[in-house]
Amino acid sequence: MAGVDLPFACTCNTLRGRLIGVSRSNGTRIECFCTDCRAAEVYAGQPDPAPGAVQLYQTTPDKVRIDAGEDQLAVFSFSPKGLLRWQAKCCGAVLFNTVRTAKVPFASLRTDHLEDDSALGPVVAQAFVKKSDGKQGHKGGGKLLMTMVTRVLPCLISGRWKQTPFFDVETGKPSREVRLVSREDRAAVPLP
Ligand SMILES: [Zn+2]
Ligand SMILES: [Zn+2]
Repeated sequence: MAGVDLPFACTCNTLRGRLIGVSRSNGTRIECFCTDCRAAEVYAGQPDPAPGAVQLYQTTPDKVRIDAGEDQLAVFSFSPKGLLRWQAKCCGAVLFNTVRTAKVPFASLRTDHLEDDSALGPVVAQAFVKKSDGKQGHKGGGKLLMTMVTRVLPCLISGRWKQTPFFDVETGKPSREVRLVSREDRAAVPLP
């Protein structure tokens, strides 16, 4: 399926790129209510998304092309094994999440940074949403799992996982030095 290219940019427009070949069938639009996604925004000096969720589009990293300002790309994480949170140094905008290895080709883009997100279709899953019994859970969890099976595996098998701005595939290391946020600093993020 052909799909369309969707431009994205950080808030100050220095780091710019495109999601390529996007169609409703090759990514999953979700919203995440987890504390870490919220804390990442606040830690990075961005507006607090609460009580709303962080809007994400889950896809594979080979769909991500950075066209300008790649030197502004930086990455932090809240724990040694936690998600990598990729941001633009220029304005702090958090643009992507990835896992810690290129061999799990998985990337989420913050859809607020897309010029136009209408091609993505509706939000189909909610992660860490508060349910009526007060507990946290996922809605549309099957869709989250399908992402793994229908996108991540083909991306691995075809070798497309090697096309990623986030990793040096030779060394397997992230393409930028990961700034590990200390427990104290994470705890100090104001989340009223
Ligand atoms: Zn989250
Ligand atoms: Zn910027």
